[in-house]
Amino acid sequence: MKLTDLVLPSVAALKPYEPGKPIEEVQRELGLTDVVKLASNENPLGPSPMAVAALRGAIEELNRYPDGGSVMLTRKIAAHHGVTPDHIFLGCGSVEILNLLAYLFLRPGLNAVTSEHAFAIYELADAASGAITKTAPMKDYTFDLDAIGDLVDAHTRIIWLANPNNPTGTIYQREAWERLLARLPDHVVIVADEAYFEFVRDPYYPNALDYLGAQPRLIVLRTFSKIFGLAGLRVGYGVADPVMVNLLNNVRQPFNINLMAQAAVLAAMDDDEHVRRTLEVNLRGIEYLEGEFRRLNLAYVPTQANFFLVDVGDGMKVFNALLRQGVIVRPMHGYRFPRHVRISVGLPEENRKLIAALEKVLHQQA
Ligand SMILES: *Cc1c(COP(=O)(O)O)cnc(C)c1O
Repeated sequence: MKLTDLVLPSVAALKPYEPGKPIEEVQRELGLTDVVKLASNENPLGPSPMAVAALRGAIEELNRYPDGGSVMLTRKIAAHHGVTPDHIFLGCGSVEILNLLAYLFLRPGLNAVTSEHAFAIYELADAASGAITKTAPMKDYTFDLDAIGDLVDAHTRIIWLANPNNPTGTIYQREAWERLLARLPDHVVIVADEAYFEFVRDPYYPNALDYLGAQPRLIVLRTFSKIFGLAGLRVGYGVADPVMVNLLNNVRQPFNINLMAQAAVLAAMDDDEHVRRTLEVNLRGIEYLEGEFRRLNLAYVPTQANFFLVDVGDGMKVFNALLRQGVIVRPMHGYRFPRHVRISVGLPEENRKLIAALEKVLHQQA
């Protein structure tokens, strides 16, 4: 028997997640020294200096296992949100929590519902559990929560929502969200993935945490990978009913948040100045890039996050041409946007380098 016949067919057929190209790889492959990465929605200012200082101290403790319950960090996050610690579940990135939710609630014969062009991990997690993903069409690059609700059936166990969504940068608003919550049957877990929460400027943005009290099947995901600039450490968390948190604890590995990560995140949470500066750099970058996209006649999706989905005609071609100019963006064919690239907002000089390269590349292709 073939090894691949011993696993679920949906697992054998999986294609692993394609991350943004690392800077070192581009330097090596193309012989470039000056490379800018605007491909993974990372914080261009780097990690919080307070987190870096905490990491230096933690190095000496690395012979010890971390606190398996991440007690200090769990308490701090709980206090930050005004809930008790039994509402908090920490994950090795919020992506680990997505996988654990699929592991808990999905299996062959069941399905999960999301939108087309949603964050790619949802579909991978469904397939890993042998469940089917049902996707509703978008409306104007935005999740259509009514269409998503229409797809829910007796076999649905999870609804995956990203707000803002990656790679579109768009949000759904409070009214649509409340309409969806009101109609969901009680066999459906609703996942509100708010990885870009801090960046949102739209006043009609619903903070999913406000709905937890009335929704025992809701889990709200946040992460330290984006605005806190700690993507490399892998820490995210879910806020949910204690019953949900217990179920997740039943299936996680015992030391899923490593010792360095716990130390750094504890420190980063006190660094309001770093968060403030990040928002400022992002907003200035958004204004600059929007002006330049308009000047270059490029259609882009207005963003509520720290990245843009931009229609460049042939996304793969422009991605490759930009690489040769030392700028890494993300091609979007995997998201069924073959005309687009996704561009993270960078530092002012990074944004300028991107625009100069983009202008050159588009000119060559015209
Ligand atoms: C970046 C991102 C995450 C965060 O992933 P981590 O595992 O916490 O690094 C989650 N959801 C979406 C939609 C994202 O874009």
